[in-house]
Amino acid sequence: MASITLDSVTKRFGDTCAVQGVSLSVPSGAFLSLVGPSGCGKTTLLRMLAGLETPTEGEIRFDGEAIDRLPPGRRDVAMVFQSYALYPQMTVAQNLAYPLRKRGVPKAERATRVAEVAGMLELEPLLQRRPRQLSGGQQQRVALGRALIREPRVFLLDEPLSNLDATLRTHMRREIGDLHRRLARTMVYVTHDQLEAMTMSTHIAVFDGGQLQQIGSPEDVYHRPANRTVASFIGSPAMAFLDAEAEDVGGAAVLRLAGHIVAALPRMPARRHMVVGIRPEDVRVADGGIAARVIGVENAGHEAIARLSTTAGDIAARLPAGPAPRAGDALAILPAADRLHLFHAETGARLTLNPRAPSAAVAPSALGHLQD
Ligand code: ATP
Repeated sequence: MASITLDSVTKRFGDTCAVQGVSLSVPSGAFLSLVGPSGCGKTTLLRMLAGLETPTEGEIRFDGEAIDRLPPGRRDVAMVFQSYALYPQMTVAQNLAYPLRKRGVPKAERATRVAEVAGMLELEPLLQRRPRQLSGGQQQRVALGRALIREPRVFLLDEPLSNLDATLRTHMRREIGDLHRRLARTMVYVTHDQLEAMTMSTHIAVFDGGQLQQIGSPEDVYHRPANRTVASFIGSPAMAFLDAEAEDVGGAAVLRLAGHIVAALPRMPARRHMVVGIRPEDVRVADGGIAARVIGVENAGHEAIARLSTTAGDIAARLPAGPAPRAGDALAILPAADRLHLFHAETGARLTLNPRAPSAAVAPSALGHLQD
């Protein structure tokens, strides 16, 4: 088990800056997910932790000790790849035992450890099979087992579930989460599936263009995204971004969106123009609200996701079970005032203004005369 610290880590490949000045720190036993769009530097970062790449600048420390000069074999890390990388000619038992055999662990101890890991991952009935006789999920479990058997201080996992079908992914997600809780080992997990990151992690680091955008708990990145990049990457369907204006109404600062006062602000911001972020679950149908036209509906039974068009832009709304609207229907909607996310119109940075419900004096139903 080890804490991990990155201090201004940069990695350049010729003209490409894959990772740019990344500093972060997670405690021992953390489950850190690295997320972000394709090409944002996740795998390069993981490979630097493994020792497969060397930082161009900066320092990586495990438990406060710089590891940059240690070769991969001396870092005490185990890596699980997207391709399972099992030895095809070996049985499952031999694949599991291989890392121990390489280290000269005596046969009897190897057998005990294989039995333990096989029990943990429910691999006992498969021990004498070869990889080609296993399903994708079973092969992935063997790959995990081979990493677990050494009890390394850090596990590095590079999109280990991306070759599995949806059902298996859900199952393995739960299994890896359980393993992390039981073993309490530090794990670093690369994925571009934000749902995987949200459900398994203690810490999520969101990257874009090689730069760290935010690191925090799943709650932090979901409920307090540092900027629009994080806000648009985390959450599905994605947060909608709409232009809005702060206004002074009778000495009170309020926020106007698509002609409606949707929130009161604690103070008048320096710049009146801003971008409002609204998550699908924070939109409700409300008489007298913002006029919206239904563009399409995805009905999942327990809920329906409606895609709506308003004069301020398109927005997704998560509607409770019940008769769902249909494409072409007209609706009136309002966002939950205290759950709005406000961003700087130019930089996209989160604004530290806490919006709340507007007072009755400026409630949306009393707004006819305020509209432009
Ligand atoms: P994906 O989700 O698609 O796997 P990623 O976030 O893991 O992407 P990286 O694989 O780390 O991204 O790549 C980051 C950037 O560095 C990309 O522009 C990539 O083309 C570049 N890159 C990665 N490895 C090398 C290399 N060995 N040589 C040159 N450029 C590289």
